[in-house]
Amino acid sequence: SPVICWFRQDLRRADNPALLAAANSGAPVICLYVLDDQTPGKWARGGASRWWLHHSLAALDTSLQRLGARLILRRGDAYEVVTGLAKELNAQAVFWNRCYEPFARQRDARIKNDLKDSGTAVETFNASLLVEPWHVTTKDGGPYRVYSPYFRALAPHCDDIAPLPAPSSVTDGSQGVHSDALSSWSLLPSSPDWATGFSPVWTPGEDGARARLETFCEDAARDYADTRNLPGTEGTSRLSPHLHFGEISPRQIWHHAVSHVPAGKGRETFLKEIGWREFSYNLLYHFDDLPESNYQTKFNDFPWNCDEAVFQKWTRGQTGYPIVDAGMRQLWQTGWMHNRVRMIVASFLTKHLLIDWRRGEEWFWDTLVDADLANNAASWQWVAGSGADAAPYFRIFNPVTQGEKFDESGSYVREWVPELAKLPDKYIHTPWTAPADILGRAGITLGRDYPRPIVDHTMARERALAAFSSLKDAA
Ligand code: FAD
Repeated sequence: SPVICWFRQDLRRADNPALLAAANSGAPVICLYVLDDQTPGKWARGGASRWWLHHSLAALDTSLQRLGARLILRRGDAYEVVTGLAKELNAQAVFWNRCYEPFARQRDARIKNDLKDSGTAVETFNASLLVEPWHVTTKDGGPYRVYSPYFRALAPHCDDIAPLPAPSSVTDGSQGVHSDALSSWSLLPSSPDWATGFSPVWTPGEDGARARLETFCEDAARDYADTRNLPGTEGTSRLSPHLHFGEISPRQIWHHAVSHVPAGKGRETFLKEIGWREFSYNLLYHFDDLPESNYQTKFNDFPWNCDEAVFQKWTRGQTGYPIVDAGMRQLWQTGWMHNRVRMIVASFLTKHLLIDWRRGEEWFWDTLVDADLANNAASWQWVAGSGADAAPYFRIFNPVTQGEKFDESGSYVREWVPELAKLPDKYIHTPWTAPADILGRAGITLGRDYPRPIVDHTMARERALAAFSSLKDAA
């Protein structure tokens, strides 16, 4: 009888312990992917993520075919599908790599119990993290809540990481097993097709991930510490969607970086960012309502403002602050935004506009190709000030000085806010201060071609600080 290899957030062949175990079992293998929109509830995949998933599944199917297998697609509640298929095929074992979303953990525990009760073996593996969250704990066995000591404890575990090879072949067990057609899942947008800007930027799938990693390690990694904050340059790896879908593993990244990038500040800083991802997963694992609730409960009384019209302007990149608008438009057009700008737009939403971080988190969930429950929740709470080891609330980003510092020549703003392209550098981050003749020469009428700021920075900063000090035990 066959074994089932259930693919989830591990859409790759190499360094995939579940696939390797299935291939090595010697039994015919059913490679399965289940589109489960029920279990996650409100965290079912958003639009941009579905675009990625479509292409990633197509790429996985092609690469499994090279090994002699094919991908079986099923849609529905994964509990029903996996236990049902195991029963129908009389499968001897089911293999999968672990997920850490609270709803996935609960579901998987149920599936595991039921399968075992009915005599089907289950083996699960770590394929998505450098180290399992329960293996990095403080001296008293509790979770780390502060990043630096967490990373110091994590790093020694990573020294002798050796990624697993891809299996050289897989005995196909899928003959006669029904698979949905990928197109029947309608994961791609139709009309309007808002994803036309995605394809030129991204190559979903294991080969695309590998190419990104190699290019980054050859070109940008050495200078990463200096260039990672400059949104107008290709200073970061853009591996985040590949990592989210498991087209590449953090073990492969760590191993490749250590063996191909010369030791130094660039490499060290990059590995620390991979460490931030682990830290987010550590937080989500130990505090499972992180995506919904303030980690610091004093924020439960925060006087958020829910002005829908203002929120819409933020989502559309129409706030009148060029660096904010550039970021929001890069997100809409490409499904990704530079990390520095994510921090600026998130700070702007929660502090300048006083809008609840959960609204921003949901918008990102729908529009990011790298939407990731752990990273998104931990990062939003970090910026909002409500998170673990968060930025202190009073550190309110000034969108003008952030723009001037990190996009000095304005190249990022010019790319994403083309109506400002002809403004001289001096005014690119403050168009409302430009004299009328300069605006005229640049072809801009404020309020018509580009908005005036929707909120005054100084007023907004004071209002945010006052809101924070209204909390009972504000530090
Ligand atoms: P690189 O700089 O090349 O870093 C390499 C990898 O390290 C990234 O791919 C990512 O996996 C990890 N990493 C880098 N920075 C962080 C960070 N601050 N926190 C956690 N992991 C990090 N990242 C997501 O993957 N999914 C999200 O949904 C997400 N939402 C975010 C929301 C906000 C408000 C903010 C401020 C950040 C968010 N991030 C998220 C973190 C970060 O912005 C992205 O991981 C990064 O921009 C991805 O680009 P890159 O792959 O070029 O990163």
